[in-house]
Amino acid sequence: MPLSLHNTLTRRLEPFQPLAPPRVTLYTCGPTVWNYAHIGNFRTFLFEDLLRRYLELSGYDVFHVMNLTDVDDRTIKAAAAAGKRLEEHTAPFVAAFFADCDYLRIRKAHVYPRATQSVPAMVRLVQRLLDTGVAYRGEDGSVYFAITKFPNYGRLSQLDRREIKVGARVASDEYAKDDPRDFALWKKAEPIDEQVGAAWDAPFGRGRPGWHLECSAMSLDQIGQCCRVETLDIHAGGVDLIFPHHEDEIAQSEAATGKPFARYWLHGEFLNVGGTKMSKRFGNFLTARDLREQGVDAAAVRLLFWQTHYRQPLDFNDDALAGAQEAAKRLGEFHERVRFVGSGPTRARGRGTLAQLAQRLQADFRAALDDDLNAPRACGALFEFMRSANRELDREAAGSEDAQRAQAALAEVMSVLDVLPTPKQLDSGLVAWVEERIAARDKARKAKDFKEADRIRAELKARGVEIEDTPSGTKWRVV
Ligand SMILES: [Zn+2]
Repeated sequence: MPLSLHNTLTRRLEPFQPLAPPRVTLYTCGPTVWNYAHIGNFRTFLFEDLLRRYLELSGYDVFHVMNLTDVDDRTIKAAAAAGKRLEEHTAPFVAAFFADCDYLRIRKAHVYPRATQSVPAMVRLVQRLLDTGVAYRGEDGSVYFAITKFPNYGRLSQLDRREIKVGARVASDEYAKDDPRDFALWKKAEPIDEQVGAAWDAPFGRGRPGWHLECSAMSLDQIGQCCRVETLDIHAGGVDLIFPHHEDEIAQSEAATGKPFARYWLHGEFLNVGGTKMSKRFGNFLTARDLREQGVDAAAVRLLFWQTHYRQPLDFNDDALAGAQEAAKRLGEFHERVRFVGSGPTRARGRGTLAQLAQRLQADFRAALDDDLNAPRACGALFEFMRSANRELDREAAGSEDAQRAQAALAEVMSVLDVLPTPKQLDSGLVAWVEERIAARDKARKAKDFKEADRIRAELKARGVEIEDTPSGTKWRVV
């Protein structure tokens, strides 16, 4: 079964077909670097990491673009409040974002265009929209997009239905500061913009880009440069970006290019705390660095997030996190156990059972992720494998070929889920000592001094080091 993804454009599960396989162009809306990103933001980035990794495992050649919003209302306000220039204020948050991504093992995008460094592309896009007549200069000197000139407006967010259903909510939306129907492409420079260095010259007046414009300009610019196309295969982000951000991105991009902006729109649900969306506005947020400082292993965070489908809200609480920590630990122990299976021949009684289980794991894992990235089901397959494989290992019925199959299956699963505990940093003195002792034992064995070899094994064991002789040399682990 091919990969199917839920496309917000059609509200349907669709077989995934990129424009020019095996290439997949992927754009994900990046962080606004006015402050630290909280783990609600990282739930979105982790869902995108799952998508990216699974596309790559499926053989696609992914070109992943993630922008950094380093100029918008919030960054300007925060920089001014701190009495700093824009780049001076955002630099530590950019660095923190990358450090947090590393901590959470998020695969790096191929490019991270920054809004402040992409202004020429934005100016060109605004000019293109002015030239085609869908944009106009307002009386206040800003440039606006006239959505009446773009009949498809509202298709992604199904705005008509939305307005009838939740009309009141649109007005209270944080983005809907002005009339939500026409939105700013280019905002005339205000004194605060000049003060923090957030103003640029343009043929249509000195000013700065609107947030929605930034993503359209940067994504089109990047995929144009890399792949000479004006249509993304996948555009992803949090569900809160559907309206107006992504709706406006579509309007700007399609009005300029006359081509579909993105073939598939994927949206991840919120992370809640006690039923309320985690948000800086509600003050109920936790940052990735909070978790790291609490000693939480990234494996636990990833596993916790995978256990809920990306289109379902997830409630974050200490019990769930503790449960995920425990489960990740068990996975780590199991992984070590498989890695350590004896090198003897497969015994007749259990021949091939572990290999069969491994094969089933691979099939179930792929079937789950092919089904709109059903990570909870993929985790279920993994834990089922762990249970039945442990039973096999208890019977001591597995041989080296079984072990290799199991290791390969686990490696494939981990290339996407990546939920093994971070290895403990071993003391380098201990490592050197163990290696010296193993070398001495090898020498003793070669000299057929088995008494000495056994003595060294016991000496290692006394310090908690277990060894195993395999065709590729002696393996060891700390138990
Ligand atoms: Zn965006």
